[in-house]
Amino acid sequence: MATRSFDVIVIGAGPGGYVAAIRAAQLGKKVVIVEREHLGGICLNWGCIPTKALLRSAEVFHLFHRAKEFGLKVEKPDFDFDAVIKRSRGVAKQLSSGIGHLMKKNKVEVVMGQARLAGKGRVTVATDKGTEDLQAPAIILATGARARSLPGMEPDGDLIWSYRHALQPPRMPKDLLVIGSGAIGIEFASFFNTMGAKVTVVEVADRILPIEDAEVSAFAKKQFVKQGMTIHEGAKVALTKGNGSVTARIEAGGKTEDKVFDTVISAVGIVGNVEDLGLEEAGVKVERTHVVTDEFCRTGVEGLYAIGDVAGAPWLAHKASHEGVMVAELIAGQHVHPLKPGSIAGCTYCQPQVASVGFTEARAKELGFEVKVGRFPFIGNGKAIALGEPEGFIKTVFDAKTGELLGAHMVGAEVTELIQGYIVGRSLETTEAELMETVFPHPTLSEMMHESVLDAYGRALHF
Ligand SMILES: Cc1cc2nc3c(=O)[nH]c(=O)nc-3n(C[C@H](O)[C@H](O)[C@H](O)COP(=O)(O)OP(=O)(O)OC[C@H]3O[C@@H](n4cnc5c(N)ncnc54)[C@H](O)[C@@H]3O)c2cc1C
Repeated sequence: MATRSFDVIVIGAGPGGYVAAIRAAQLGKKVVIVEREHLGGICLNWGCIPTKALLRSAEVFHLFHRAKEFGLKVEKPDFDFDAVIKRSRGVAKQLSSGIGHLMKKNKVEVVMGQARLAGKGRVTVATDKGTEDLQAPAIILATGARARSLPGMEPDGDLIWSYRHALQPPRMPKDLLVIGSGAIGIEFASFFNTMGAKVTVVEVADRILPIEDAEVSAFAKKQFVKQGMTIHEGAKVALTKGNGSVTARIEAGGKTEDKVFDTVISAVGIVGNVEDLGLEEAGVKVERTHVVTDEFCRTGVEGLYAIGDVAGAPWLAHKASHEGVMVAELIAGQHVHPLKPGSIAGCTYCQPQVASVGFTEARAKELGFEVKVGRFPFIGNGKAIALGEPEGFIKTVFDAKTGELLGAHMVGAEVTELIQGYIVGRSLETTEAELMETVFPHPTLSEMMHESVLDAYGRALHF
């Protein structure tokens, strides 16, 4: 088949790639996107979205158990595990097919197959029907990442699961070990714990959710333990597979114990999809499984960009999409701004939820800032009490000299929706004075965001 020419070739149709394709098309470019598996990438099919669908089932199930508190009657709360999984897969499918419609609407051509760089401005795609040759002056690598696997803990889909297995599990676990307490590990721990599994979490760092503010980690741990989880921090683990079970040797706090589990979820990080792309021949620099880029996602090879998970941390869908827009605009000759890492929020949709943006208190101090810190507890907020969600807090960290909001850290109901308020504030380079003068609607959980700021300056009203 003859080589077909485009303005932009995007490799990978996750939230990085498909968003880049849409934006480039909006700017008048002739765009082709190549995808080897599903439109929507990990995020829509095996990540952000199906996990949130599962966690929603868990949340509703949890509320069923609390029905009496709300004056309601639910006899013997129960669930159909297959139906819970089916709903999650259905949600993923709906969104993935939505991306197909978006591609059509924006006149982005979709080629299903495995892409590989094939010289300057050239890509070959292995499809069901043979090989397709494409060329374009701009190529965007958005090939994403996959689960990292540690020796002796390789997922087998039976006893040891990766996130993909956990999203389409062969059974509801009874005794579950989750290795790793980043967002992915903790979300699965929270889901299966709420659904009734006995959950143990091991974390090699000295605290769970290790990138969060230390007060948030400590609070979340207390809540998880209250919910029945066992948590080992600063822990090492080694697995021995048996017949239908896994024995885990867990070393933590100076003690070593052997525990038996019917299921293990390995959530020990991710690695970039950099293989079989022709990166070496193209002269692209790869460091620790990620393509090295500058702040504009340029790889150093003319016309070749890398965005999203394959270009490194933070491994978040919104970071991938934002980079996708930036690169599309750069290719179209627009003036763009580099992404500010301190404005990318992280959200974990466990129960209670966790959300943060900017520096933790410890990091701000390490960087030499003199800080003012505000805190406000959910128990002091009318809406939280009315919702029956009195557990949690919002912490804000300000630069004492300039009043700049350096960071915000939240744990409690719906904080993943609230964090956006502070992100807008940070984007607009707001200070404490503007935040204090802002009128927050009543009764809302967002009032705690106001109170936390007031507290940093000794002015909290409701606590
Ligand atoms: C369980 C889980 C939960 C998550 N939850 C969240 C969350 O709540 N919020 C959040 O922000 N992030 C979350 N993430 C992370 C998020 O999914 C990723 O950050 C995001 O998907 C990255 O987008 P991307 O476009 O860079 O790559 P991906 O979504 O990984 O997409 C890359 C695409 O490229 C394709 N591809 C790879 N190589 C080739 C090739 N050679 N040819 C053709 N196609 C190729 C792949 O098939 C894939 O579809 C979660 C991840 C997991 C695993």
